[in-house]
Amino acid sequence: MAFEGLTERLQNAISKLRKKGKITESDVKEVMREIRLALLEADVNFKVVKDFVKTVRTRAVGSEVLESLTPAQQIVSIVNEELIKVMGDEATPLNKSPKIPTIIMMVGLQGAGKTTTAGKLALKLKNEENARPLMIAADVYRPAAVDQLKVVGESIDVPVFEMGTDVDPVEIVRRGLALGREKKNDYIIIDTAGRLQIDEKLMDELKNIKELAQPNEILLTIDAMTGQNAVEVAQGFNDQLDVTGVVLTKLDGDTRGGAALSVRTVTGKPIKFIGEGEKSTDLDVFYPDRMASRILGMGDMLTLIEKAQRDFDQQKAEEMAEKMRANTFDFNDFIDQLEQVQKMGPLEDIMKMIPGMANNPALKNVNVDSKDIERTKAVVYSMTPAERENPDLLNPSRRRRIAAGSGRPIQEVNRMIKQFKQMQDMMQKMSKGNFAGMEGLLGN
Ligand code: GDP
Repeated sequence: MAFEGLTERLQNAISKLRKKGKITESDVKEVMREIRLALLEADVNFKVVKDFVKTVRTRAVGSEVLESLTPAQQIVSIVNEELIKVMGDEATPLNKSPKIPTIIMMVGLQGAGKTTTAGKLALKLKNEENARPLMIAADVYRPAAVDQLKVVGESIDVPVFEMGTDVDPVEIVRRGLALGREKKNDYIIIDTAGRLQIDEKLMDELKNIKELAQPNEILLTIDAMTGQNAVEVAQGFNDQLDVTGVVLTKLDGDTRGGAALSVRTVTGKPIKFIGEGEKSTDLDVFYPDRMASRILGMGDMLTLIEKAQRDFDQQKAEEMAEKMRANTFDFNDFIDQLEQVQKMGPLEDIMKMIPGMANNPALKNVNVDSKDIERTKAVVYSMTPAERENPDLLNPSRRRRIAAGSGRPIQEVNRMIKQFKQMQDMMQKMSKGNFAGMEGLLGN
């Protein structure tokens, strides 16, 4: 999962401050040194790190922090705000043409995820706006790219215009645009060729396509796994093509995450979407505030809820969001959520979106597999309806009964109830939208 190391190091750095009542300038200096190293190790661009650390330090030695009774919390708040700023403050929507079609040109190196993202984006537009996109297969060099786009198109029921691989890509785009206009498609997504590296011939071709298509949006796809290299690539493409936005793919992988924090500052262009998996629904709008929350290990309930809404039972997801707001999340909901979560992909990744779960020392060596979920369910099913609704009823004798009924050791029952309560508590704090919950999330 992305950011794992960074989250852990940031949390460690800050948790040292928690042990102190008041802090001094030299404490701030020390924590900033650690934050700097954490960012560099996460492969964040050095200039971005330098500016970031300077800003946070300046803010953190202000009297409001030094004299505060909760300095660690204040610093978390500042780090959070500055992370958001570095990533562009707000989500940046897709550029749209005032009249149809909106033309989107996908560019990027080979393997970055262009073709996959073209399909994901088409599906997103179709699902969320009832749009009728057309995709144009203009990558005639990568073996099988045209076929790949056709397969993607078929799987999401979006038409693909192609002319095989023997025609000049500019001509393919010309014909594709004409067809899209004729058919009144509201979006036309052009999948262009990539190379293993940026070269002049590629850029000339892309410039020609840009000139012809006059796209509203040029989305540069970069692979988060390649870190600094991805940022250099972004800069290269941007210099030549003046892209309008970036899609950061493979954030579900084991990336250190530096690209997410560097792209905006280095290129001046916003990350608009992130790819978090190979499925065609795995494309999310990039929200700097949610990403900052994830980086700090505060979870990302909003994305989790959206994932649930998008992929699965909409009604349940809405109920869950409402329960979090109303603070009536109980064991029945817990089970519902576990069941939804089971359908949502790699459990480790999902768990980390829950506040407090990323790098939670309690979960450190817990390998979340579906057997754990089945055991948890067995424990909950051994509770009475009243107990499920009101976990406070669970006194020792009830717990023993539940352990016997579910065939699980009493320690496991106790641990699960404790984790549930922590989760409930954090949800309550997080849903109030402040950082009061952070203290408990920073370990120890
Ligand atoms: P292109 O050469 O830029 O068109 O790249 P592709 O779209 O063919 O993607 C290259 C590989 O990356 C494929 O195996 C995709 O399934 C995979 N991929 C693309 N986006 C993501 C993502 O967000 N997460 C993961 N895990 N894999 C991705």
